[in-house]
Amino acid sequence: MKIIFLGAPGAGKGTQAEIVAQKAGIPTISTGVILREAIKNKTPLGVSAQSYIEKGQLVPDELVIDILTERLSQSDCDNGYILDGFPRTIAQAEALDKMNVNIDKVVNIYVPDEKIVERLAGRRSCSGCGATYHVAYNPSKDGVHCNNCGKELTQRSDDKPETILNRLAVYHEQTAPLEEFYRNRGILCDVVGQEEVADTTSLTLKALGLK
Ligand code: ADP
Ligand code: ZN
Repeated sequence: MKIIFLGAPGAGKGTQAEIVAQKAGIPTISTGVILREAIKNKTPLGVSAQSYIEKGQLVPDELVIDILTERLSQSDCDNGYILDGFPRTIAQAEALDKMNVNIDKVVNIYVPDEKIVERLAGRRSCSGCGATYHVAYNPSKDGVHCNNCGKELTQRSDDKPETILNRLAVYHEQTAPLEEFYRNRGILCDVVGQEEVADTTSLTLKALGLK
């Protein structure tokens, strides 16, 4: 099973991807997580990606396509995977085609722009494992530490208000065209993002035929 999660930043792709991946026993590949890890470790990739991410721009296609190609070659991807945050441009989707990756389903999570701003501003992520939370919608047990690994929760530097608006504009301009791209292939399913994580999960599992 190869699944793509599409949707604006903060629509809940990462959260839903994690839940479905656990249920299906396949890994989630998140380019955002890989890039943030690279920035933290100051690798050459991280150094090149950092300025784009902080401005709310996309990292150049060549760079993310290389990362993804490398990641998909690892053996835990043999039985399928969920892509979270890739593809984000038509060129990236075409790169998947060139790699002969056959996507089964694309879950398109829709959340209106007004909600997105509120969600991103309240988003917190774990400094250890990268798990994401929301101060109101999906808080960790004690509100300050990660449920999985106990490390402290932090706010992402690209979740600042100025950057959020940039990321939304970039999404509408460069990523939203992928909806038509995959709808035309008959594999896109629309899920309306709900207030409660569990409610979005129910709709997602139904759309994927997993429930
Ligand atoms: P979100 O979906 O909340 O924006 P991500 O973690 O998916 O969060 O992405 C964070 C940032 O990382 C993006 O704003 C972008 O700069 C960069 N990025 C992640 N994935 C890609 C990609 N496939 N192509 C280009 N840039 C990417
Ligand atoms: Zn953690």
